[in-house]
This record gives sequence, C-alpha cells and structure tokens, in this order.
Amino acid sequence: MPARTGAEYIKALKENPPEVYLNGKKVEDITNHPGLRNGVQTIAILLDMQHDAKLRDEMTYESPTTGDRVGLSFITPRTIEDLERRRVMMHHWAKANCGMMGRSPDFMNVNMMAMAAASDYFAQNRPEFKKNIENYYEHVRENDLVLTHTLLNLQRNRAAGATPLEDRTDVALSVVKETDAGIIVHGARVLATLAPLSEEIALYPTTSHMLPGDAPSPTSFAFAIPCNTPGLKFQCRESFDSERTHFDHPLASRFEEMDAVAFFDNVLVPWERVFLLGDVALCNNMQLATHRHCHSGHQVVTKNVAKCEFVLGLANLMTQTLGSNTQPQVQGMIAEIIENLEVTRSCLRAAEVDAKIDEWGVMCPAELPLQVARNMFIRMYPRMGEILHLLGSSSLMALPTEADMEGPLAEDLNRYLETETASARDRVKLFRLAWDVSCSAFGARQILYERFFQADSVRNAIILYNMADLEPTSATVREFLSQE
Ligand SMILES: Cc1cc2nc3c(=O)[nH]c(=O)nc-3n(C[C@H](O)[C@H](O)[C@H](O)COP(=O)(O)OP(=O)(O)OC[C@H]3O[C@@H](n4cnc5c(N)ncnc54)[C@H](O)[C@@H]3O)c2cc1C
Repeated sequence: MPARTGAEYIKALKENPPEVYLNGKKVEDITNHPGLRNGVQTIAILLDMQHDAKLRDEMTYESPTTGDRVGLSFITPRTIEDLERRRVMMHHWAKANCGMMGRSPDFMNVNMMAMAAASDYFAQNRPEFKKNIENYYEHVRENDLVLTHTLLNLQRNRAAGATPLEDRTDVALSVVKETDAGIIVHGARVLATLAPLSEEIALYPTTSHMLPGDAPSPTSFAFAIPCNTPGLKFQCRESFDSERTHFDHPLASRFEEMDAVAFFDNVLVPWERVFLLGDVALCNNMQLATHRHCHSGHQVVTKNVAKCEFVLGLANLMTQTLGSNTQPQVQGMIAEIIENLEVTRSCLRAAEVDAKIDEWGVMCPAELPLQVARNMFIRMYPRMGEILHLLGSSSLMALPTEADMEGPLAEDLNRYLETETASARDRVKLFRLAWDVSCSAFGARQILYERFFQADSVRNAIILYNMADLEPTSATVREFLSQE
C-alpha cells in the first residue's frame, strides 16, 4: 500500500481507537476529542504532505517490495545521498510543526528500520525473532502506520541501593506467562508520547536505563503490538489544547502530541510480534549494537535544527517589533541562538559526511556528532526559552486574547499596543506565539521534553563518555611528554 493520506489515517484511528483516558473519562472518539483532535489533524497534514505534487518526490521513495511510493523516513539508507534525502524529508515534517512535535512518525520509522536492518542481532536470542522484526518493519512501512513507544518503568524509588523496580514484577512491566499464542505481559510503562494518536506501540530496552544483573529477567524484552490490543490502556496527562484559537494558543491548538502512562493488564503479545525475550545482555546492548540511536539521532537533530530555526526567526521578529534589536546585549542573545543553530546543523552535516556502512550493510550516520548535538540541545533549548523571556519581558504578559482585540477595549488596545514597526494586532499575535513557546503549559512541556525525552543530561554525558575513543588524544599528550 502506498504512503497514506491524512484522511486514511483518521479513518483508521476512528475505526480502531486505543483505550484512552483523559480528564476522568474514557475517550470515545480520539479524532473528535477537543483535547486531541487538533494533534490528530496535524499528523494527518504531515501524512498529506506525502501526496503534495510539489513535495512527493522529496517525501517518498519506491518500496523495495511493492514498488509503491512509501514514506521516505522508512528508507534503509545505503549511501550518504540516502541519508541526505531522508534528512530533507524529515526537515519538511519538522518545519511544518515548528519542531514542536518531536514524535512525528519519522522518529519511530527510523528506529524500526534500524532494528530490522540488524535483524541478525535479534536472531541471536531466538532464530525466529529475525523474521519477526523484519516482517514488523515491512508491515509498518507498507501500511504507513503511526507508532508510539515506551521504554521505561515508572519512577518509584531511585535511591542508590534500592531494590531495582525490575524486581517488582507486580509494578514493572513484566512477562508473567508464556503460552502457545505468545507472551502475556502485565504492569505499567512510561512515557508514551503520541500514544492516543498512534496505531502501534513498540517496547524495547534503552541504554540509558540498563536492566540490572545478567540472569534471565521477566522485564527483558522487545515487542510491538497494536495500540487497541485488549487490556492495554493509556492514561493521558491534561491536554494543553484547550480549544482556543490559533491566535490565542498558536502552538497548543495545533501540536498537542500528548503523553500517556501505559497500563498493560495481562496483555497478549503474539509470538510473531516478539523481537527479544529474557536475555538481559542482548537487551542492554541492543541500542548500540543495532545503531538505532544513530538513526533516531539523525531524526532528533534534524528536528532540533528546525526548532532552532523557528526560535531564531521568532526572536528576530520580537526584537524588530520592539526596536530592541540595536542593543548589543540583545544582539548577543540572538547570536547565541545563531550559534545553537549552526553548531546543531554542523553536527548533523558532519554525521552525514562521516557516515559509514555498518556491519548490517546500512549507511550509518556518525554517532559522536549526533550524540554531542543531542547532549548540547538538553542545555540549548531551556536557554533559548530563557532568551525569549529576556527579550520579551512584559510583552509576554501584556497579552490580550483574540476576543479582547474585538472587545470593549479594542480601541485602547489598538492605540496603545502598536509599536513603531507593528500594528497592535500583529504585535499581540507575535507575542502570543512567543508566550506559547516559552511561558504557556505547552511551552513548559517543550522544555521538559527536550531535557528528558532521550534520558537526562547525566546519563547522556555518561553515554557520550563511553562512546568516545579517548586514546588518540591521550597518545598525543604522552608523545609530547616523552619529548626531551
Ligand atoms: C515530555 C516527555 C516525553 C517523554 N516521552 C517518552 C516516550 O515517548 N517514550 C519513552 O519511552 N519515554 C519518554 N519519556 C521518558 C524519558 O525517557 C525519561 O523521562 C528519561 O529517560 C528520564 O527517566 P525518568 O523520568 O525515569 O527519570 P530518572 O531516571 O528518575 O531521573 C530523574 C533525575 O534523577 C537523576 N537520577 C535518578 N536516578 C538516577 C540514576 N540511577 N542515574 C543517574 N541519574 C539518576 C537524573 O539525573 C535526573 O535528573 C518522556 C519524558 C518526558 C519528560
């Protein structure tokens, strides 16, 4: 089946909804729920871009099995040009959501591609897992399915020396039974971003939160199932889309991707959907061995470039509107955003230029520049939010709503809120956007997301430290010291 349209996605979500709870109620129709439907519409718009006559060639490629045009984020890259094409495609999507929907479907598509390309890794666990992961990737690609994922058990007691939650099989998601049909899993997982808007959920281990010990464990597995599998329930956080206009909440009214806790109540995972089982070492090594982090890094850093571009454009317009752009300290702060953009973009390009064919025959982006870009963005993005605060100050609060602009004080608002370069309406519209990036609940969640969605800064620093080969630099110093 070729890449789907937005309408096909919405129809499928309407017909096969996951069991979702929000604000004390079960959501009957996700595609029509006030807190979720605009996010659904945005995913639909992204999918429709695959059918836009001007973009089609940049958004899709020929399926290796059917010849149909399928989404380009699914491509198994064999050349650097493939990576560049994939980046162009992912940038189109990231630009369309201002970098504010980290979980546009390309995020999971590149992960599933990388795991399937390294299918022999999964065969080491059980031979049949090789075909399972290959078939699953093909199924997702050919049906253009939207995926969420959830990799962690809940925070409960992170104290050093505390019993690992993995031992609490009553809480941590665990395999409780194996049957002829598959494995039965029970427990809870965090955090499934995009879950209510997704059709499939994938669960796999992550390097940031290693499983303890090396004995076979009921919490070591990788699998994927439809989000509407019986027994699987999602509890959403509060929606930040509160049915306001695009003028009032320009981002929240479009890009609510939602985060949810996933509860698995004795859920059956059919054998053909199991990719790893019971082997702690294979689980702990999966991310680095398959290079899935390099491909997800390629998507993440592409999104980060689009996000920096957006914040830079916004900061520039804010200071032009206020006339503060001639101040040296203002230029200094905008220069910081330019540095963030250029460093991020350079890491992305370096990862492509230094890409190599890996042991799975895949053109793999260089891991160090991507890991550096990821780690730096954990600090860059909160700082960019702070810069918007510093540039905007009271204009981020002197913010009437769209209704106010037409209300009893309309004349006053139009007279007093105009600036030398902008009408009152344009100024308010712009600063409402800056507020939604940096001050609103939506904006605060973006900062939290960038701090944590790929593990915290400490764990990421440890991953980078272990990734880097420090010996050549030490050798240089030893050689210098040995000089007479
Ligand atoms: C907005 C958002 C969206 C997310 N989306 C997803 C998603 O779609 N899928 C998914 O799987 N996950 C998702 N996550 C979860 C994310 O991966 C985790 O929040 C992150 O890895 C940190 O894990 P934690 O929340 O358990 O915090 P912890 O691991 O408990 O860390 C919290 C703090 O305590 C410190 N800390 C505690 N214990 C340790 C330790 N043992 N070693 C080092 N530091 C420690 C950390 O430095 C950190 O600052 C999302 C998170 C957020 C905030």
